[in-house]
Amino acid sequence: MVSYKELGLVNTREMFAKAINGGYAIPAFNFNNMEQLQAIIKASAETKSPVILQVSKGARNYANQTLLRYMAQGAVEYAKELGWEHPQICLHLDHGDTFEVCKSCVDFGFSSVMIDGSSLPYEENIALTKKVVEYAHQYDVTVEAELGVLAGVEDDVQAEESHYTKPEEVIDFATRTGCDSLAISIGTSHGAYKFKPEQCTRDPQTGKLVPPPLAFDVLDAIMEKLPGFPIVLHGSSSVPQEYVDIINTYGGKMPDAVGIPEEQLRKAAKSAVCKINIDSDSRLAFTAAVRKVFAEKPGEFDPRKYCGPARDEMTKLYKHKIIEVLGSDGKAE
Ligand SMILES: [Zn+2]
Repeated sequence: MVSYKELGLVNTREMFAKAINGGYAIPAFNFNNMEQLQAIIKASAETKSPVILQVSKGARNYANQTLLRYMAQGAVEYAKELGWEHPQICLHLDHGDTFEVCKSCVDFGFSSVMIDGSSLPYEENIALTKKVVEYAHQYDVTVEAELGVLAGVEDDVQAEESHYTKPEEVIDFATRTGCDSLAISIGTSHGAYKFKPEQCTRDPQTGKLVPPPLAFDVLDAIMEKLPGFPIVLHGSSSVPQEYVDIINTYGGKMPDAVGIPEEQLRKAAKSAVCKINIDSDSRLAFTAAVRKVFAEKPGEFDPRKYCGPARDEMTKLYKHKIIEVLGSDGKAE
């Protein structure tokens, strides 16, 4: 048993309370390799933004849970080296699907876990979430739960259709489970293809897809039922078209990739939405940078020469999200 407190990590409780009162949101960035983690920490340290490092099931399969946890521990020290005196870094399990996985993360030094019972019948979701909360809270580890179903594909999490969270269920769910935050479904979606072209309109000037707006009426109804309760948005990448264009220019093939417009996320960040998950955008930044190096310097074979530019591009992207979209810069001085 290792407590996250010994590793210099923090849970989400105070982060979220401040974010709701301050009208901003905490970035939750997924990581599964060193360059990505370096970029997240550099961007957070330079902007003094609290940050949530997320580990998904896919990341655990790819990089090994033990290694990722030690990397997060190293990240705290790296942040201090970068001059961030009191780093506010949370290590979070993304989409835990069983009590056992959540328990193993709590025991191993994670400061926050998500139990995703959203695919289960309502009462089973409550029972599973409550079990995880009861265990995690003994160690002051915070728990995110989910109600409603997001469409799209994220590692092993996938659903054909989304089902918006039902506002009439949230009080009962939050009260009976004791969860610390709630991921809701209001039209965000996992992956780089969040909407089918037929769900979108086309910008007459650029010909690019314009996605349907998020269901802010559902968010408002949820906030009315649970005033001041921390809300989480998954699947909130914006799929920057400049990256999609670079990828397509240099031999990639990503037609009609589309995400959530940043102005909608900006609006959400000002509300009780206090955690916004961003994964696909950093994958796109990485891939765009690597493809460009491969196209321009076909003789290059040193991974540092293409992972380096990819890391720089991700750092730029993370800082942009922190400063221009979530407004979390300067909130962890
Ligand atoms: Zn998710």
